[in-house]
Amino acid sequence: MMGHTHALTGVIAWLGLAPPLAALPLLNESSRFIDTGIMATALSPAELIAGAIICAGAAMLPDLDHPSATIAQTFGPVTWLLSKGVSWISGGHRGATHSLAFAVAIGLGTHWLANTYPIGRDIMVVLLIGLALRAIGVGIPGKKLGSAMVNIGLTAGLYAVFMSQSVGYAWLGLAVGIGCLMHVVGDCMTERGCPVLWPLSIKFVLPWKIGIKTGKKFEQKILAPVLAIAIVGLLFWRLVPV
Ligand SMILES: [Zn+2]
Repeated sequence: MMGHTHALTGVIAWLGLAPPLAALPLLNESSRFIDTGIMATALSPAELIAGAIICAGAAMLPDLDHPSATIAQTFGPVTWLLSKGVSWISGGHRGATHSLAFAVAIGLGTHWLANTYPIGRDIMVVLLIGLALRAIGVGIPGKKLGSAMVNIGLTAGLYAVFMSQSVGYAWLGLAVGIGCLMHVVGDCMTERGCPVLWPLSIKFVLPWKIGIKTGKKFEQKILAPVLAIAIVGLLFWRLVPV
């Protein structure tokens, strides 16, 4: 499955699930929803959008186990080294990072990090914004270093915008967990499947034992526009008052 497909499904899952989930007491920094009694206001519009971008980035995290993939080039050598490390720990492509255990562990780990070390939280936020931008094609074809520079600039810009909108990150772990989970579901729909119950090595394929042969053309020409329309619809539903 291609990077942008993962990123777009991450955005859809976030826009669909986040407002009610973010209203959970542990995941909410503000008393907004308690004031109004409406769960949908647990996130400010800026937080909803920041979360969508971060969830898209998180939907790329499992593929950091693939150092030669384009997303490993997000921030040049920094993300390449990170990818090398992830690949080594997870035992190669589509290993440990493509499992339920990884999604839960990284979600909980990020939640803990976000609440304990502001610096760690900020590094995670920056990494995820960068992965999301790279996944949707930000970069200069054939120029590794140039692409990394463009990505670093845009990521810094978005990070500053989020800060100016006083975006809180109590929901960071939730976004990371949802993003990784969507990635695993997406890869299960390809013929290769995923070791969902890692460390058990059984591969899961959806629909049951069949899988769907997607192909580059289908994902770029049909699936991406359909997902993009769904995102616009969800944004409208979440942000435009009726
Ligand atoms: Zn994958």
